[in-house]
Amino acid sequence: MPVAPREDPDRLFRYMAEHRPDCPKCRYCLEGLRSDRCPECGQKLSVAAFLAARRRRSGMPRWVQGLGQATAVVCFFTVAMWVLRPLGILNPRTGWFMIAALGVSVAMVAVFTGAVVVTWKRGE
Ligand SMILES: [Zn+2]
Repeated sequence: MPVAPREDPDRLFRYMAEHRPDCPKCRYCLEGLRSDRCPECGQKLSVAAFLAARRRRSGMPRWVQGLGQATAVVCFFTVAMWVLRPLGILNPRTGWFMIAALGVSVAMVAVFTGAVVVTWKRGE
């Protein structure tokens, strides 16, 4: 992971003036604060921490993620069928073809979901 650049305090204060965020840790109201520490709990404040907290709170509901993954499996399944068909090894009429296509689809969705989660947790 790259080293985070030292945060410009003006950027932090400008962000707080515009967004009036709560403390990411204790949710204390930070309106008008001119410090990079929460007066309530002493949490070090940064724009990145505010963005991360906001993203955590506005996370997608589970069923939306499930629906997205189900849709992705169907899309990848269709793609996998088209990719596997010309190989000639797998006959589209056999069950093995379907299993292989479904396996490839699920694997691709798993990789894709993993990549999204990693990106999500990395922050900005
Ligand atoms: Zn706090």
